[in-house]
Amino acid sequence: MRDGYILHLWVSEDSESFINDNLDVIEAGFKLFFWDGFEVNIDRLPNEVIVGAFNERRRQVNVKSLIEGFRKLNNPKPNVVDVIFLDRDLYIEGRDYIFSATHMVTKTIAISIFRLAYAVNLASEEGLSLFRERLYKEFIHELGHLIGLDHCINETCVMAFSPDIPHLDKKLPILCNACVEKAHILGFDISVK
Ligand SMILES: [Zn+2]
Ligand SMILES: [Zn+2]
Repeated sequence: MRDGYILHLWVSEDSESFINDNLDVIEAGFKLFFWDGFEVNIDRLPNEVIVGAFNERRRQVNVKSLIEGFRKLNNPKPNVVDVIFLDRDLYIEGRDYIFSATHMVTKTIAISIFRLAYAVNLASEEGLSLFRERLYKEFIHELGHLIGLDHCINETCVMAFSPDIPHLDKKLPILCNACVEKAHILGFDISVK
């Protein structure tokens, strides 16, 4: 049991209902690395953080500016993992778009649901479960980075780099044995069956 961790979710207005409806997915992902000894806090992400990182020309949010802007308002705290959720498309310099990113030093994760839910009928059972699986995979991928895991060459491992939806959908929602072993060396026993 890893007691005392706080998972602090910062949810934009436009992603709030998606996240509230799928909180169990987020909690299950956090549980994989941090077991049961954590609490979850949820706050609204101040809109100014998104506005300040929005690139008008690209119509996308710059993830580096997003995390910097967020950190101007909230200092990192020990044992707190801050996760930003938004429904705007994210990018990083040099790439057309990204689904999510992690800043290890400040323990900050940013996840965009924009592409995860794009062209998915969330009113259908299959659509909703596809969205939930993508959200889970993105979240545990970023938590893997947060604890120090790199990208994995095993393309079905959740730590494989996924530049697009087909690659994301090809991955399994689990870490491969090699990544589980690396996590163990980093001090994180993965609570898998
Ligand atoms: Zn990655
Ligand atoms: Zn792996």
